[in-house]
Amino acid sequence: MANLGTKSKKEKANSTIRKYNPSAIEKKWQKYWAKNKTYQPNLDSANSSTGSGRGKPFYNLMMFPYPSAEGMHMGNMYAFTGSDVYGRFMRMRGYDVFEPIGLDGFGIHSENYALKVGRHPKEQAEVSEKNFYRQLRATGNGFSWDSKVETYDPEYYKWTQWIFIQLFKAGLAFRKKASVNYCPSCKTVLADEQVIAGKCERCGIEVVKKDLEQWFFKITDYAERLLNNIKDLDWSEKVKIAQRLWIGRSEDTEIDFQVKDNDFKVKIITTRSDTLFGATFLVIAPEHALVQKLKPKIKNWDDVEIYIKTAQSKTDFEREQSKDKTGVVLKGISAINPVNNKEVSMYIADYVLATYGTGAIMAVPAHDDRDFEFAKKFGLPIIHVIEPPKMPNILRVYVDDQDRSDLAQELRNMGRPMEYWTPTLRRYDVDISESGEVAEKLEKAGVGSDDDLEEIKKGGSFALEFEPAGVDFGTVYTGDGLHINSDFINGLNNEEAIQKMTKWLSEREIGGKTVHYHLRDWLISRQRYWGPPIPLVFCENCAKKIKNRESRVKNRQNFKKGELENPGWIAVSEKDLPVLLPDVKDWKPTGKGTSPLATVESFVKTKCPNCGGPAQRETDVSDTFLDSAWYFFRYTSTEFKDKAFDKKRVEKWLPVDMYIGGAEHSVLHLLYSRFITMFFNDLGLISFEEPYIKFRAHGLLIKEGAKMSKSKGNVVIPDKYIRKFGADTLRLYLMFLGPFTAGGDFYDTGIEGMHRFVKRIWVLVTSKSSIDKTTKEGLRFLHKTIKKVTEDMEALRYNTAIASMMEYYNFLSKQQTVSKDEIKTLILLISPFAPHISEEMWSITGFKNSVHRAPWPSFSQEHLVEKSTNIIVQINGRTRDVLSFNTADINNKRLIENTARISKKAEKYISNRPIRKVVYVPGKVINFVIDNGNGRAV
Ligand SMILES: [Zn+2]
Ligand SMILES: [Zn+2]
Repeated sequence: MANLGTKSKKEKANSTIRKYNPSAIEKKWQKYWAKNKTYQPNLDSANSSTGSGRGKPFYNLMMFPYPSAEGMHMGNMYAFTGSDVYGRFMRMRGYDVFEPIGLDGFGIHSENYALKVGRHPKEQAEVSEKNFYRQLRATGNGFSWDSKVETYDPEYYKWTQWIFIQLFKAGLAFRKKASVNYCPSCKTVLADEQVIAGKCERCGIEVVKKDLEQWFFKITDYAERLLNNIKDLDWSEKVKIAQRLWIGRSEDTEIDFQVKDNDFKVKIITTRSDTLFGATFLVIAPEHALVQKLKPKIKNWDDVEIYIKTAQSKTDFEREQSKDKTGVVLKGISAINPVNNKEVSMYIADYVLATYGTGAIMAVPAHDDRDFEFAKKFGLPIIHVIEPPKMPNILRVYVDDQDRSDLAQELRNMGRPMEYWTPTLRRYDVDISESGEVAEKLEKAGVGSDDDLEEIKKGGSFALEFEPAGVDFGTVYTGDGLHINSDFINGLNNEEAIQKMTKWLSEREIGGKTVHYHLRDWLISRQRYWGPPIPLVFCENCAKKIKNRESRVKNRQNFKKGELENPGWIAVSEKDLPVLLPDVKDWKPTGKGTSPLATVESFVKTKCPNCGGPAQRETDVSDTFLDSAWYFFRYTSTEFKDKAFDKKRVEKWLPVDMYIGGAEHSVLHLLYSRFITMFFNDLGLISFEEPYIKFRAHGLLIKEGAKMSKSKGNVVIPDKYIRKFGADTLRLYLMFLGPFTAGGDFYDTGIEGMHRFVKRIWVLVTSKSSIDKTTKEGLRFLHKTIKKVTEDMEALRYNTAIASMMEYYNFLSKQQTVSKDEIKTLILLISPFAPHISEEMWSITGFKNSVHRAPWPSFSQEHLVEKSTNIIVQINGRTRDVLSFNTADINNKRLIENTARISKKAEKYISNRPIRKVVYVPGKVINFVIDNGNGRAV
């Protein structure tokens, strides 16, 4: 039997060992997989007795990539590898795995790159596509290449446009003039979701507001469903939380404040109607329509007008985040608090946004931080209506370590030790809520005021101060408590008070309960070139027909819901799809609020699909997030030219079984694709309404402690590492960096160690050194490793799975002989991570077919009996015996104690003396404290 690779001299001496050549091996097997369609399931016959029919269909999806020609970076490879490892694992467990890939190449991201390199987006797309797919093949992922899609392919965006038309026909696409987010750098509008902390999600430039007429999707109609379904999703918890917050359901109360001596009302929405008695003024947004209506009565209009102009020049983000609260009182105007008929003044202030709620708030300065700041600044009344619960009465006592008096001892015993003030003077917090005895004693001892502290710090013994108890009316209190100064809700807590107040308001028809969502409608139009043209035309003739009441009634049947709701806008006939994106020279964004397509006359001029009259095409393109909201449907049906997807296919493969992607898409892509899926369900196209059964967010890959970014110039491209070490080493290294859901830190130096590990495995497997039978110890280690790796794979703990394989390798390398079974298992376990070398080793050791089609090894419990653990037996702290226990039993204190007590040596010392105490440190020591016969412990 040969030595198994622990000594390099012998390794070198062994002439039968082949050299590990990753580049040749990887190319060889990539060709083999392509030729044999190893990873292409039969999309129709999976899970049937014919065809591939291996098992249950398993849709393993990774998030749609949108790379530029700079190509795939290490972060992409990290995400894809983690997803691919899971897919391979599931395939070996008998599933028919579908793992498609494609390219989200339409949209601002790709167009911005084309702008940067000065190439037409269409030409650029060809370059990017070629480069990206080349890179992907080199990583060795098990993609179902026959099913790829690119969003800029007319065969794809034809159906993106078709989806737009379905939404339009259903009344879920509408046009309206709105104050929208506009990125001055990308020269287009953005959805709320694409504005991160006031900045453009794509380019990082500060977003401004513009009034523009735009297309929206009514995703808010789905808010309740989108929210309710979250609880049943098996998704990363942080992503579920992000979605809930973004949808942001709140149950509020509406309250009408009558403007004094006027017909106008100010409608406000609040979550805290219980504080209505504390509402001492109203604040409305400078843009609030009421301001203009009240203009004739406002006595300081000049000031008001200046303030409005200043407010409009600020971004929402600046306005909400500003530390310094500004505002202007509306002189001559006041409102009536409906609950007590008290007159309250009215202000405009920019911290209230017109777009949020009703654009007006009731200010309750005693119980809201922003209102409090505002009231302080403008000298407005502050009325407390909630009493904070009584705080425990805490004495802060400063006790010197050297003070040996009884009182000092007592304080040390009673108090909670806190920080040291001087090297010897320590603070203790003593709760005297129950008894004031200590305070009295301190008073008698002549200490007890804050003033003493300085004195005593110099060298003294102790001092104290009192924490205030009860209500502090000098600050804001936002918590729960009993209501005061509030007439019929006095004595109630927040929840009870809100209920009673809401009822009181609705009985008098001056308010009541409402439900609100933070979610806004999806702004879908973009004034850009590189996207699917919105498939609508505008027809004057049809607009007239719809606007005229008589003619509308007469022609009702001829129009779809969206057409009636958006007079003049007519959907392109479905047989005329796709509306091709014309090849134009002037494709750069104009910045004039229109798309570059608006200047292409041959594109704009068309015929109305409804009446045949002259019409104009919509020239905006749709947001790229629509492209990616349904791509996973298309993957299943790429060969179908007459439908977006085939129902049978989709029902077989969807919902997606495992979706892996970045947490940064928590509220964008994931929410939009859920909405589109629900819409498909409503159309009766599919039977389910959630697209992804399981979603896991992978962690972030960083580079030597820093986030990878183009601006820092530390973006790593995988190509050179693959050339030097092979994709297998790189894959293993990436997955070893940390738990996949937590991310990892990439070091150039770290990869070398992994490469050595791969080479060692190669040597171990390729040296002919196997016997037929696995030893008993070998069996135990084998099954233990299978169990650990299997459990880790299921939980995406790839790093510890690899660590177990390393341990297993170490074990095998120290054995005189290894069995064929041991080698086989090692290859199988490592194959999802290192798909090429495992194929090569599989074939060298004489196995047929692809290792990736072989079943995942199973473990059996009978071999999992653990080693024994030695436990020291002590009597009164002295070691008297050492006993061996089954490791599985070390937490069974009763068993350990009973066994140890009757052990020969221990029993001699214990004899019949009473045991006072048994101290057990699991897995280490058990100590019996016994009487020495005189009633004292020896
Ligand atoms: Zn931008
Ligand atoms: Zn028409």
